[in-house]
Amino acid sequence: MKKTDTNSLTREMAKQTVRNDVVLNAAYIEGDWVTIEASDSIDEYALYDPNSGEVIATTRLCSAEHVESAVNAAATAYASWSQTSTNERAHYLNAIADTMTEQFDTLVGLSVLNNGKPIEEAKIDVSDAIACYRYYAQLIIKQETWAEVETNETGIRLLKTYAPVGVCALIVPWNFPMVTTAWKLAPALAAGCTVVLKPSEVTLLPELMLGNILSAIDLPKGVVNILPGAAAVGAGMTSHPLIDKVSFTGSNAVGEKVMSQAAKGIKDISLELGGKSAIIVCADADIEYACDLIIGGIFTNAGQICSATSRLIVHQDIADALFERLKTKTENLSIGDGFDTDTQMGPLVSEQQLNQVKKYFDIAITKKLECLTGGKVLDRAGYFVTPTIYHNVPVTSQLWTEEVFGPVLVSKTFAEDLDAIRLANDSKFALAATIVSADESAALKIALQIQAGHIWINEQQIVLPQAGWGGFKQSGIGRELGSDGLSAYQKSKHVLLTH
Ligand code: NAD
Repeated sequence: MKKTDTNSLTREMAKQTVRNDVVLNAAYIEGDWVTIEASDSIDEYALYDPNSGEVIATTRLCSAEHVESAVNAAATAYASWSQTSTNERAHYLNAIADTMTEQFDTLVGLSVLNNGKPIEEAKIDVSDAIACYRYYAQLIIKQETWAEVETNETGIRLLKTYAPVGVCALIVPWNFPMVTTAWKLAPALAAGCTVVLKPSEVTLLPELMLGNILSAIDLPKGVVNILPGAAAVGAGMTSHPLIDKVSFTGSNAVGEKVMSQAAKGIKDISLELGGKSAIIVCADADIEYACDLIIGGIFTNAGQICSATSRLIVHQDIADALFERLKTKTENLSIGDGFDTDTQMGPLVSEQQLNQVKKYFDIAITKKLECLTGGKVLDRAGYFVTPTIYHNVPVTSQLWTEEVFGPVLVSKTFAEDLDAIRLANDSKFALAATIVSADESAALKIALQIQAGHIWINEQQIVLPQAGWGGFKQSGIGRELGSDGLSAYQKSKHVLLTH
């Protein structure tokens, strides 16, 4: 596909890709698109443009038989793929990255069309995914087959090696479809695992392009199988006896189900779940810059980010000045069509997500929360809400404790650092946090006491492939990215010999 200037991407171009390139009504099994035939037991599913609420396309979702074929294909392919050299696996990972780079604009366009995110955010989704495939290609070739383990014994050698964990079920959400897929697929392939991948049914358009990419690079058949499906397909995959490992990213409600489904047969499991991350703004922070970080942390992707810093904890000495500036800056954000390059915040992904955010607006009204700005559904087509900030929110409020997954910020002030730390840690989630302070060593001291897997100091939410990603408490189990992300798909083996 021809590379174009992404700033000239249009909705019509993306729709043309849907007509010409996206294979609908099909599952990608054993290296081929297998038609999902219409029948009474097959669900028809509509894919929407969140900017207008119009249907872009309809497709059929898989049945239990497709799950069976896909898992069997992955299990059969495992015998040879698990024995490939690390160089061979790195070659395929780089080939995925190269092909995604060639198709960059196409993938970005489909993401904007199907997810609603502004072009610049869709570019991050695709480019971070590409970086992830390249990173694991580099990492796996550096891993030695045998490592000597030091012991105190004479006449004995202890060797360590890593083996792939087996056949994996990978399940991802819709908020950053290409990245959340890459964070699982790249290390799984690098480790020598074969997989059955279930993208979110909500954002199938960019995800289905992956099947075309895998065919284009001649990935051996059955190594990756892609099933368009919803809860039933996910449940079938995660409880299947031939699946050795489940890696899930999504909500806590579904995560709990996935954990119990995966208990059948004692499967290995990784869970990347929700968050209610804090942003702490210290008294010495630059107010203008702090506002940029606050806005980036909660309104990027319309707040539909697991690590969204949705709880603002600001020092009382600068609170008045900060809130005044924050309100102005928030109200100046340009909300609109993701294809419009001026847009800073797009729509929510779906009507369901719109209703979820509206539910919290209604709670705020009932509970008489102090609304600094926003709290409204926009009176226009599509799934738009205003960027919203609530002030002095009680810690018992549902808005303080629950993940809204929308552009809704709740805030409180603090007097002493210890109060800020206590407030930040007072959550069942513990995924990420941001600290804004002119004093780096004071910020690092706070960082040591914050319960979170990733902390930014005076920086936007940059996630590098080298840094492990994941939370504490109910934000999940395990880590993605970095060397920890590879370990999630490997098990160590030790060999003892005499010499
Ligand atoms: P979701 O839990 O509704 O769905 C996630 C995936 O699970 C989808 O593919 C869905 O089809 C599938 N699914 C649904 N029921 C299932 C079942 N019974 N068995 C197996 N699979 C099933 O989440 P969502 O609305 O797509 O995404 C938003 C959530 O994802 C938020 O809570 C967000 O915090 C979380 N998230 C976390 C991270 C992280 O890294 N921690 C990253 C992105 C998103």
